[in-house]
Amino acid sequence: MRGAVQGVGFRPFVHGLASELALTGEVRNTGEGVEIDVAGPVRTLETFVGRLVNEAPPLALVEDLAWVSIQPPGGVGFRIAPSAAGALVDTLVTADAATCPDCLRELLDPADRRYRYPFINCTNCGPRYTITRAVPYDRPSTTMAGFTMCPACRAEYDDPADRRFHAQPNACPLCGPHLGFFRPANPDRRVEGEPALAAAVDILLGGGVVAVKGLGGTIWPAMPSTRRPSHGCGPVSNATRSLSP
Ligand SMILES: [Zn+2]
Ligand SMILES: [Zn+2]
Repeated sequence: MRGAVQGVGFRPFVHGLASELALTGEVRNTGEGVEIDVAGPVRTLETFVGRLVNEAPPLALVEDLAWVSIQPPGGVGFRIAPSAAGALVDTLVTADAATCPDCLRELLDPADRRYRYPFINCTNCGPRYTITRAVPYDRPSTTMAGFTMCPACRAEYDDPADRRFHAQPNACPLCGPHLGFFRPANPDRRVEGEPALAAAVDILLGGGVVAVKGLGGTIWPAMPSTRRPSHGCGPVSNATRSLSP
């Protein structure tokens, strides 16, 4: 399958669909897209192919689907196999996706372990393009490679029933990236976490400007009445929707 099929939860989706239909085989990312070896009754395989396209995850864009008959892969069950890099690299890198409703709910739930964690994401949302260093898309090929998942995140990542099954940027306050704040005049005096956010909000409320170096470059949020910075610093976007911390 070709198109935007990596980093969109396609492998977990294929795993779930094949398991539901009791098909055996495996799915893997390649330099060209997603490759599936699958065995089962012909009727069920037809259903499988139809549903692959019709029920694809929300961020997926299937551009092409081709199939050939092969020797049945054997084995029992269905698995997500390691990616096959291959010589040819020709696949779409998925765009970043805004935080989904499920993640927003967790973000604002004081009982959730990701309460107010700014880097919350799941299989259906979060960074993709801006963290991708190489395809096939897998955590070691992203800027998340340096963050080792904690046991709780790892358990979600490994659980086919979890909505973070195989979510490559999966992270939490314990194991993922954190907010940091410093002033250019004093880069060694950093504050982290909630105090960093509070410091930035203070500056904005005081009519100042902060540079937010995030996943996709630098954003200059400002109060509507504040002039945007005029110095040459590359693309500038004013992306503030709300200033409530
Ligand atoms: Zn999400
Ligand atoms: Zn974690």
